[in-house]
Amino acid sequence: MTHSIHLVDHPLIQHKLSLMRQKSTPSAEFRRLLKEISLLLGYEATRDLAMTTKQIETPLEPMDAPILAGKKMCFFSIMRAGEGLLSGMSELVPSARVGHVGLYRDPKSLEAVEYYFKAPADLADRLCIVVDPMLATGHSASAALTRIKAAGAVKIRFICLLSAPDGIATLKREHPDVPIYTGALDRECNEKGYILPGLGDAGDRLFGTRSGSLKD
Ligand code: URA
Repeated sequence: MTHSIHLVDHPLIQHKLSLMRQKSTPSAEFRRLLKEISLLLGYEATRDLAMTTKQIETPLEPMDAPILAGKKMCFFSIMRAGEGLLSGMSELVPSARVGHVGLYRDPKSLEAVEYYFKAPADLADRLCIVVDPMLATGHSASAALTRIKAAGAVKIRFICLLSAPDGIATLKREHPDVPIYTGALDRECNEKGYILPGLGDAGDRLFGTRSGSLKD
């Protein structure tokens, strides 16, 4: 199966991402920028949605107007940083259903353990778009995709802001059917799984939950 990676490097995304990367950027600004970028990433990831037509009346005459076909989409947020991309995506497609996946890594087995999962019904009939800003090693994204497939999803796309080669390789190997939309491809992951040069811990920066340096 061919695996597609879409590098969405629109100048506005690159500029906003550079602002997000700066460690001096405060949480409120970081959140606002991520939301703005999510609109642009979401626009690109939905570019080829199936369409149908509906008979409507303009003030002047009837017309067959194009509208989205099929069942409502489902966006999945991988908690917690996924929330930062989800807010813009939900504004872009207000009718989309929303699912949540919460996973943590067991420190002994290093396996992803689920602590939360909630999804709408009929996933098999919906395009599912899974969002997580950081595709680092790809372990949690891969586990989330496996869980979402187990719940019935068959047509899935993955959106992230930043990705590292390890994460791309993991998804390519374990989920070759899932196209990836990423705003940038960074150099590598460090030994703690952070993306370099990256932007730090996306969840902490979104929600203001860390005061110290990641270098400590
Ligand atoms: N998750 C983050 O929040 N940041 C990284 O650099 C890697 C994973």
